[in-house]
Amino acid sequence: MNALNRLKNITMNPKAELKEAVASGKKVIGIMPYFCPEELVYAAGMLPFGLWGAEMQANESKQYYPAFICSILHTTLEMGLKGELDDLSAVMIPISCDSLKGMGANWEAGVKNVPVINVAFAENRKIAAGIEFTRSQFRKIQKQIEEIAGRTVSDDEIRKAITIYNENRCAILAFSKAAATHPAEVTAADRCAAIKAGYFMDRAAHTELLNEVTAELENLPASDEGYLKIVTTGIIADAPRLLDIIDKNKMVIVDDQIAHESVNARYVIPEAEDPVLAMAERLAEIEGCSVLYDPGKKRGTQLVEMAKNAGADGILFILTKFCDPEEYDYVPVKRMTDSASIPMLQIEIDQQMTDYGQPESAIMAFAESLR
Ligand code: SF4
Repeated sequence: MNALNRLKNITMNPKAELKEAVASGKKVIGIMPYFCPEELVYAAGMLPFGLWGAEMQANESKQYYPAFICSILHTTLEMGLKGELDDLSAVMIPISCDSLKGMGANWEAGVKNVPVINVAFAENRKIAAGIEFTRSQFRKIQKQIEEIAGRTVSDDEIRKAITIYNENRCAILAFSKAAATHPAEVTAADRCAAIKAGYFMDRAAHTELLNEVTAELENLPASDEGYLKIVTTGIIADAPRLLDIIDKNKMVIVDDQIAHESVNARYVIPEAEDPVLAMAERLAEIEGCSVLYDPGKKRGTQLVEMAKNAGADGILFILTKFCDPEEYDYVPVKRMTDSASIPMLQIEIDQQMTDYGQPESAIMAFAESLR
């Protein structure tokens, strides 16, 4: 389990990874959620560095955003304002939700040392015009990346980066599957930390470590007897105290539809002559995330199937506080899980939360009702 410990250490101290990369002469680009074309950054020989907020109190960011904006944006902006991300050569900010639409301007106003790369993709991402729009935006971003890298990036380099990212996606899913039957060896917090480490390190190295852990787990007998099987859904479940509550109640995460975890991993980029077109086509395929236009609410259908396939006892809807897309999704998704007779509990979390009493009681009661 040395590999698991290594991944956990990286997750515990991402800033050390950032410093190390910069000290080695590598340029690093911050990548905000969601679905930024980070393969282009990797192809240019730079390190994509995930920015999904942090467990901390935000103060200065309140000069730019009202308090009722999600903590992912508040805490990421706070780190930027405090100069903690000054080592980045740029930050990619998409416009995937109403709150993110203001992030680029807020960042530019408050964070002077790190330029913004705005990321737009088509809302109607599945139609031919939408795919073409996304492809053209990604090519535009490629030019900005080339300027920062000080060199051009070839399609062959992009293809190589895509292969590395696709392998990483497969490794994440394989690890998640192995962890599902080994809660004694991999706690819910370990599972999250192992996946999260990929946001701060070279993806090929992340794949190697994850594969090592998965192989170890596959050699061990299952340790999930007596555990309740749950599927998680939401934007982010990266709250160690919440994950401890899941463990304490003898629950194991058997699959997830969490944007920060497996949603991105579930869809690989197809092989194609134009690798950037392939990236846009992949975006058209993704389901299961509230920030992507989803008129038939396929997220609910996917979640029900996922829970059935995994033999889950229930679903945990982990709602990020003040997240409109998640709040809008909750009602239709709940109707769909109810129709399928799959119990679902909604809990609300926030990276600035210090008291987990409420989710703890709700999860304890949910676990009792499932046993
Ligand atoms: S989708 Fe929700 S959690 Fe994500 S940035 Fe927007 S408001 Fe915040």
